[in-house]
Amino acid sequence: MNLIFLGPPGVGKGTQAKLLCDKYGILHLSTGDILRLEISEKTEIGNFAKKFIDKGELVPDDTLLKMMKDRLCLDDTQNGYLLDGFPRTIEQAKGLNLIMKKINHKIDSVISLFANEDELVNRLIKRGLTSGRSDESINIIRNRQQIYLKQTSPLLNYYEEIDLLIKINGVGEISDINDEIVKTVDQYA
Ligand code: AMP
Repeated sequence: MNLIFLGPPGVGKGTQAKLLCDKYGILHLSTGDILRLEISEKTEIGNFAKKFIDKGELVPDDTLLKMMKDRLCLDDTQNGYLLDGFPRTIEQAKGLNLIMKKINHKIDSVISLFANEDELVNRLIKRGLTSGRSDESINIIRNRQQIYLKQTSPLLNYYEEIDLLIKINGVGEISDINDEIVKTVDQYA
């Protein structure tokens, strides 16, 4: 099973993604995690991406598409995966379609976790106190929210139109949200 996870910064995507991957035994491919690893290893991609990540901006589409094409072509993706944080623009979604065709994979469902903006900002500020992430101060968080609204939220319509979208309320207990996601994925994916 191949899934995409969509949701604004702070909605709990990472937490829910891990639970879901454990449950279904699929790979968790988080582009944020991959990029942070590249940064810590001071690779060429990492050094390039850091400038964008630190400002809360998106790393350019061609960089992400090349990185994810290489990642998805590895053998360990055969048993399924969850894409967490990718695609984030319509351009990336179109590029992902081409990659999927090339490697003969298909997306089974796109899960959209949602919550209201104030709830999200409060959660991110709390997380920023302990995460040590360079992109979790209030101004950068607001910037990430705006970028999500402008560049990523159009993907909701994009995937709804091709009947792949599952919408889940991201406010509540972690285990209740997980139960809801599993129930819905089992029904549709
Ligand atoms: P995340 O951990 O998913 O919140 O990602 C952290 C940061 O990594 C984002 O704010 C972006 O700067 C960058 N990033 C992660 N995934 C992507 C993507 N698909 N496209 C562009 N930038 C990304």
